[in-house]
Amino acid sequence: MAVKEIMDSLAKQTVNNKKLSELVKDIKLVGDKLELVFMLPNKNLEKEIREKALSVLKDVEGLQDVEISFTEMGQPVQSPAFHRTRLPGVKHLIVVGSGKGGVGKSTVATNIALSLSKLGYKVGLLDGDIYGPSIPTMLGLKNQRVEVDKFNRIIPAEAFGMKVMSVGFLLPSEDTPLIWRGPMLMKALTQFLFDVKWGSLDFLVLDLPPGTGDVQLTLAQTVEIDGAIVVTTPQDVALADVKKAVVMFKEVGIPVLGVIENMAYFVCPESGNKYYIFGKGRVLAFAQAYGLKVLGSVPIEPEIAETSDSGVPIVESSANSQSAKAFLSIAKIIAEELERR
Ligand code: ADP
Repeated sequence: MAVKEIMDSLAKQTVNNKKLSELVKDIKLVGDKLELVFMLPNKNLEKEIREKALSVLKDVEGLQDVEISFTEMGQPVQSPAFHRTRLPGVKHLIVVGSGKGGVGKSTVATNIALSLSKLGYKVGLLDGDIYGPSIPTMLGLKNQRVEVDKFNRIIPAEAFGMKVMSVGFLLPSEDTPLIWRGPMLMKALTQFLFDVKWGSLDFLVLDLPPGTGDVQLTLAQTVEIDGAIVVTTPQDVALADVKKAVVMFKEVGIPVLGVIENMAYFVCPESGNKYYIFGKGRVLAFAQAYGLKVLGSVPIEPEIAETSDSGVPIVESSANSQSAKAFLSIAKIIAEELERR
């Protein structure tokens, strides 16, 4: 069961010549529980919309509980229709997203978290990539497993002074295949947010799965997020998809702190010349078009990939490298921006 399936079922019913799916103002799916907010074209239609919605939703497999509410059409909705919960003890929750996989999102999230920690903040890092968690490898925590305390709270792992949680820590072995269904995946992520003993943190950095699907959307509606960072490379394919991520964050009312340009250029070790392999100025042009800041540009450095594989991120292993300096500068901008609010 996924949001798309629910919307498809709602599209089968019409009220006032409008498909029910077109009247959905907000939708939230956590586990097997669905919350729907419909825009009400006319006050008398409440009963009809409710009945027709329930008549199709009862056939959606796995759906246990449906809660329907209404908002009047034409009324500007200033705040989201859902109540979002603040993570207790966490001062700033930041999400790192991208439109596409493979642009270096996890690498960036890890090095930014570590940079924040080096700046003296208390930091947690949550690996949201439930399908292919890579953060354990990047932090040398490959064989790490976690336990729960007597209150059933998961005790996070620790690396380089940060608290770290990943689904990788719960699997019997690294090669265990993970077959998650949508609702389970959502439950796992929300549980990692709320049932992990993060303690008091200045920053919790959540590395989102790539893309703009249900997970991102539901998460955005469940928990209060203070800012989103989007990672892209200067390639057309990546930029096309990152637009969707920016639009999604804006739609759900999460402030986008800015864009990080990864793999921005390559410095030839012999000549010292800079080569803009994927194009120059394109991320800046994109950011300007969307009224966003470029928080920084990280070069292509083979050492980034090597250090990720060996479990010591570049900010730790080569603090003087161009990319480590870029990560640190980006972390400072983020911290200043969030602490200023
Ligand atoms: P994503 O999370 O977007 O899927 P990853 O962070 O896993 O991407 O990065 C994909 C691969 O690219 C990894 O092998 C990583 O080490 C490498 N990588 C990421 N950024 C850089 C960079 N700036 N220079 C060199 N290699 C990089």
